[in-house]
Amino acid sequence: MPKIRALRGFRDIYGEEWEKFWNIYEVFRENLELFNFKWIETPVLERVDLFIRAVGEETDIVQKQMFLFKDRGGRDVALRPEGTAGVVRAFLELALNPPQKLAYFGPMFRAERPQRGRYRQFYQIGAEFIGYSGYLSDVEGVLSAYLPVRSLGINVEVIVNTLGGESTKRSYSQALKEYLRGRDDLCEDCKRRRETNPLRVLDCKVDSHRLNPPDILDFTPEDVKEEFYKTLERLKEEGVPVRRDKNLVRGLDYYTGLVFEIRAKDMEAAQSTVLAGGRYDHLVEELGGKPTPAFGWAAGVDRIALLYMPDRTRKPLYFVVRTSEDLKEEAFRIAMRLRGEGKRVDMLHESRSLKSQMRYANKVGARWVIIVGEDEYRRGYYRIKDMETGEEGLVAI
Ligand code: ATP
Ligand code: MG
Repeated sequence: MPKIRALRGFRDIYGEEWEKFWNIYEVFRENLELFNFKWIETPVLERVDLFIRAVGEETDIVQKQMFLFKDRGGRDVALRPEGTAGVVRAFLELALNPPQKLAYFGPMFRAERPQRGRYRQFYQIGAEFIGYSGYLSDVEGVLSAYLPVRSLGINVEVIVNTLGGESTKRSYSQALKEYLRGRDDLCEDCKRRRETNPLRVLDCKVDSHRLNPPDILDFTPEDVKEEFYKTLERLKEEGVPVRRDKNLVRGLDYYTGLVFEIRAKDMEAAQSTVLAGGRYDHLVEELGGKPTPAFGWAAGVDRIALLYMPDRTRKPLYFVVRTSEDLKEEAFRIAMRLRGEGKRVDMLHESRSLKSQMRYANKVGARWVIIVGEDEYRRGYYRIKDMETGEEGLVAI
């Protein structure tokens, strides 16, 4: 029979690698705990309208990356391509009172060209500050993202920019459109984008590095500019390696005000962004709620896993072997008792010689082997072998 393989861009994450994901989650969980976050789990499947309205009609995500289909009731649904839209929908549907700090961890789905660090099912840990405004909440937002990444020991820098005030995005888009009209060296996508959504051209992986467009700060009101500089200063004071990039705009429509990315220094540019986010003051209203300021970010766990060297070791393994099959029940009982004491314990269930069991225990990296033998067992003992030193001793059962 031919084997059935996983879909392109989808993968199995196995053993130590998946354990890394849990370690990363654990480090984020500990750090977000310090900021008093609550955790939320929203559905993987949502009405497609949610993403069209939240992420934006003209974005790459909506135009070409969503997994779309009709469910059995004929409704247009999509696998979630990102987490913020669902969290804000839930915030409204559960009628939660602002302010709320909500965090999530789960799979996202985007039909993009698969490559290292870019998959069609990938995992994000995200955080949303709903009902928070002012530059200190921008500072807190960036810190809540940076601290877990720093705890993981990854060498990063934080890039920030502002999308300005209420009218800035509009006037800047106009200026950018004019600047881009003069360029005939743009990629095909960008030639279309420069009319419909010129900001997105700055986000393009092909073109952006060659452009030197006008600076959005020249279109930003004085008070917003001042808050942006204060945010930068406060972040530096907190020890964040931060710098401004005037071309950082982010690919989702809902952003307003501060936007930021955390980039790994030891990665190729295409996969170097491990976390991204910013302020989105209009999204709650856009999804039917009252005007509510908000800030959020999402970390790419698959990419962090490429950079993170776990320093958390597993518990040492105890392996229980027996000298004869008659002692299998007893061996099992001892294994369960040790597990009851919080130890990591394993044993083989199939019939094997003692020698073969020992060889297996060695192969799977047992630190201690518990040998259950006839004579000792009758006298109320088992033997324990230290696999590092080879020393053996007797322990009362
Ligand atoms: P990129 O510019 O790399 O496509 P993005 O702007 O689409 O990223 P966001 O939507 O901001 O990314 O998601 C936040 C983070 O999630 C990214 O910085 C990245 O680490 C991760 N991420 C996004 N798309 C993927 C993917 N297809 N596979 C793995 N990780 C991803
Ligand atoms: Mg993308």
